[in-house]
Amino acid sequence: MKKMLSTLIFLLFFCINFTLGQEIKRVEPEFWWVGMTNPNLQVLVYGENISDLSPSVDNGKIDLQQVIRTENPNYLFLNLKINKNASAGTFNIQFSKDEKVVKQYSYELREREEGSKQRKGFNNSDVIYLITPDRFANGNTDNDNIEGLRDKVNREKPGGRHGGDIQGIIDHLDYIEEMGFTSIWLNPVLENKMPDHSYHGYSTTNYYKVDPRFGSNELHKKLSKKAHERGMKLIMDMIPNHCGSEHWWIKDPPSDDWVHYQDNYTNTNHRRTTLWDPHASKIDKKQFAEGWFVRTMPDLNQDNPLLAKYLIQNSIWWVEYADLRGIRLDTYPYSGKEFMQKWSCRMMEEYPNLNIVGEEWTDNPAVISSWQRGKKTTGNYESCLPSLMDFPTQMAISSSLTSEEDWDSGMIQLYRSLANDFIYPEPSNLVVFTDNHDMSRFFTQVNEDLKLFKLGIIFTATTRGIPQYFYGTEILKANPDTDDHGVIRSDFPGGWPDDEKNAFTGEGISEKKKEAQSFMKKLLNWRKNEEVIHTGELTHFLPKNECYVYFRHNKQKTIMVALNKNAEESYKINTSRFQECLKGKNSGTNVLTGEKINNLDNYKIKPKSGVIIELKPNSK
Ligand code: CA
Repeated sequence: MKKMLSTLIFLLFFCINFTLGQEIKRVEPEFWWVGMTNPNLQVLVYGENISDLSPSVDNGKIDLQQVIRTENPNYLFLNLKINKNASAGTFNIQFSKDEKVVKQYSYELREREEGSKQRKGFNNSDVIYLITPDRFANGNTDNDNIEGLRDKVNREKPGGRHGGDIQGIIDHLDYIEEMGFTSIWLNPVLENKMPDHSYHGYSTTNYYKVDPRFGSNELHKKLSKKAHERGMKLIMDMIPNHCGSEHWWIKDPPSDDWVHYQDNYTNTNHRRTTLWDPHASKIDKKQFAEGWFVRTMPDLNQDNPLLAKYLIQNSIWWVEYADLRGIRLDTYPYSGKEFMQKWSCRMMEEYPNLNIVGEEWTDNPAVISSWQRGKKTTGNYESCLPSLMDFPTQMAISSSLTSEEDWDSGMIQLYRSLANDFIYPEPSNLVVFTDNHDMSRFFTQVNEDLKLFKLGIIFTATTRGIPQYFYGTEILKANPDTDDHGVIRSDFPGGWPDDEKNAFTGEGISEKKKEAQSFMKKLLNWRKNEEVIHTGELTHFLPKNECYVYFRHNKQKTIMVALNKNAEESYKINTSRFQECLKGKNSGTNVLTGEKINNLDNYKIKPKSGVIIELKPNSK
């Protein structure tokens, strides 16, 4: 009887809602925090004909400053001001019709964690491990396939889902930590309700929800906390430029200008220089910033202030919620200069010590430097972005190791790449890397030559900047004869219950792969505590006989790095040439082998090998 009654009440309630057609389907962000630097909050409310209702709030410390209606009656945007004296808890947003409250939503305000504002982002002491979550480890086979999400697991398909998830990463934090990585950047983990190729995560269909095949919001936060307990930092990949074509708001956009080129599909021209080029035509600029990245990724119009605010708040929400220590910002220039300035400055205002690295894929340092905080450019434009991916140096690493030595090719390219540092406000805050998820594996780049591979790894670990490596680089993952991204992002052996080989334990892994793995482990663990590598000055010398020599030095320590690419000849160190850094020091220790070097003058760097020498200070 009781059950019948409650069913009846439910039905009645449902009918009222249904007839009014004003069921609240979404409220975003779902909750917020008190004590944020900026007291303003914009809440999106979505429901059929919701704009017919008049919202109000029942808390004197929260001001509903503005209610914005768009041409779509299914949306309301509420501009709230959370006053300083507001306390954590809930308040009601009431929705009235004909002065009668017909709907109520209990909105939650949370307490911020202690020190939230001052959280420290990843920095020079860190080494970043980039993981494609679908391809690293399957820690929960129960979430491989989820009802309602069409893209099902198929490990045979390079572009299919393979089942990896956040639990798999949590399960292998020991491995990641032991390898010497101190920060983890995950390719995007938010929901990608796409029919195929959903595994890479770059087609967001819900900005507030982790894809259930990866786990949940709670699990993402748990990973962050678990990493943090080990002194490791979680970096989240964010994409404000575009969403996935299956995003719920694409089916029912708030306004006609929510997405660019909604009715006449236009692809971006990918010509990133257009934003800075003083000669660029308006049409080219427009097509660059407003064209779609690809057909399945609608280009969002950040000139719409509601959308701009939505995206900025979403980034803040994730930092605050998941206790992030960094952001990697996808396709940075594609959202245009104005929005990226707004976004980055707002982020840094809220979290002045956070680090954010932007992706600007170009070989041109002038373009990259124009995005970095502290650089005044045309029209006094200055962005607040602290860090960028050092693509020019990545290209130089690959090219210098594989091209013939000549006046302008070979090791000189590496030297020249760093010589461009004068153009950056803060070169030491660039992220240096050998490869990532969008390019050939580093081992493939160096034609599967383990010796050249080691030179590239030594360089990235000891030059200025923050090193980043792609999962599997340490076990020489390769993509011979193909550029297929699904192959580049292949599964990490041992991450799946039925894997025959296991790179976490070494089982079934070739000696060569094990050698690379232990080499990186040693190098990165050594780097962890070497302040001179993190923040010391860098002095380099023109490469000679295919050998590139540089020093990292501070008041306490001097480290000498010599990278000899010459396949035939050893490189004899000419100590008189390096005196400005050696300052009489003539002995030291090879940090990778432990070998003592008593007389640097007689020391030879073997063909195709690199050494890192910690110099013994002069006796006083
Ligand atoms: Ca799974």
